Amino acid sequence: GTLSVASILAETAARHPDRPALHFMGATTTYGDLWQQTRAYAGALAARGIGRGDRVAIIVPNVPDFARVYYAVLSLGAVVVPVHLLFKAEEIEYVLRDSGADLVVVAAPLLGEAVPAATAAGVPLVTVLLPAPGTVAGVPPLPRLEDEASAATPIERHVAVQPTDAATILYTSGTTGFPKGAVGSHLAVVEQVHCSLIDSFDIRADDVVFGGLPLFHAFGQTAVLNIAFRVGASIILLPKFDPDQAVELLVAHRATVFTAVPTMFVGLIEAAGRTEARPPLRFAVSGGAALPVAVLEAFREAFAADVHEGYGLTETAPIVSSNILGEPIRPGTVGRPLWGVDVAVADPEVEGRIELLAEPGALGEIVVRGHNLMKGYLGRPDATDEVMVDGWFRTGDLGTVADRVVTIVDRKKDMIVRNGYNVYPSEVEAVLARHPHVALSAVFGVDDHVHGQEVHAAVIAHDGHELDADEVVAFVKERLAAYKYPRVVHVVDELPIGASGKVLKRSLVEQFAGVAS
Ligand code: ATP
Repeated sequence: GTLSVASILAETAARHPDRPALHFMGATTTYGDLWQQTRAYAGALAARGIGRGDRVAIIVPNVPDFARVYYAVLSLGAVVVPVHLLFKAEEIEYVLRDSGADLVVVAAPLLGEAVPAATAAGVPLVTVLLPAPGTVAGVPPLPRLEDEASAATPIERHVAVQPTDAATILYTSGTTGFPKGAVGSHLAVVEQVHCSLIDSFDIRADDVVFGGLPLFHAFGQTAVLNIAFRVGASIILLPKFDPDQAVELLVAHRATVFTAVPTMFVGLIEAAGRTEARPPLRFAVSGGAALPVAVLEAFREAFAADVHEGYGLTETAPIVSSNILGEPIRPGTVGRPLWGVDVAVADPEVEGRIELLAEPGALGEIVVRGHNLMKGYLGRPDATDEVMVDGWFRTGDLGTVADRVVTIVDRKKDMIVRNGYNVYPSEVEAVLARHPHVALSAVFGVDDHVHGQEVHAAVIAHDGHELDADEVVAFVKERLAAYKYPRVVHVVDELPIGASGKVLKRSLVEQFAGVAS
């Protein structure tokens, strides 16, 4: 069969060679050119011996070369291993070893961490974006994929793969122990793209899609890159998210679709307060973390566009559910299961088997099954067996399903237990988002010898406003039960945000662990 992720670019390039595929730093690459360059890169990789089933790690930010390398690897039937861009040498080395990488492709600005990692792991390295051979101080001359591509013969077409063949190995961020490599199939990605296009995204060839989500993550790969490329839309690539620059680019390229994580929505709303210009957005898509209803409303107000919130995980390629087309958006929910994906609620306390909670609307652990599930964690049968049980995948998220609408309450591990009562941070964050002067908040639990855990919140004020911690406490106290409101509010200038755009709650817990409550 030819159901390959690479066929997404190949087919679109054959049909619309002159359409713009990527906008980056003022330059535009057409589909025809991109596929030609991709075939040349694939020729170079093939000359290095890369073929079906081999693993190629990619350490490249959101630049056109990410797309070239990604599809070049896939077009050879090899497996893409995108590496988190904030990883240090030791973490990169771990991923290279764990994935059994046969080659690593590194963008010049990231060589500092990548070279020692590749050397230690004994994995050959080839660069992209290196201005001239060997121009990085302190490292020996390094090969450039570009040069190898001009010396090699471009491949004619992508190789045929089996739908269940591995396409990607995506590493979880490793909240619990070492990162695990979730192995995803071609089928999972292709099905996701088609089902999302039919149900929830409605992206067309004339759309211009925001590309600020990191492409090393499943959300960016599926919901931005592959979805846009499937229909021949164009993507505005942004290597590092900056809200003011984002608005400027959205306006300059007349963007019609904004796909992002909640912190990017908050940033865009703030930036909109500093300029009159607006892009002609048709709609937006949010995922990756809970989008507070007040943020959804503020975005709709500022940009005159609806937000379709969805839910997913790296292990599920990633989309599980989404607010869908032709139905009213249900703010505060993550919508309906994607076509072909089953979502149910299981007893979170029962281990080793899945005990579904039959009562509609029962609160429990969200479990998922369908074509989008990973094949497993690479080389970790035990970790795989913990989450893949009786054909279901345990998400670790608590939520409900009622009338086929999914609501995520919070992650099991983020739940705070204060005096024996369960407090869900996202419920508290949703209330904080309603405070007129709170731009962004994060609620987390800090160990407390009296209450077991205490509820803390870190908050950032809207531009030009001051926040008073006691007043913020009072605001939430008025709106939530006594055990839920944060006893301690930290007014901060910024929150720790990872490369995927999510707030890093673990860093907050560490930062404020010693603060008296
Ligand atoms: P790790 O678990 O490895 O530390 P991570 O959780 O950020 O990293 P991802 O696969 O990127 O890994 O994130 C999946 C998680 O994101 C889900 O399990 C869920 O907790 C959260 N999530 C995604 N979308 C939503 C949403 N719409 N609402 C609430 N939570 C969401």
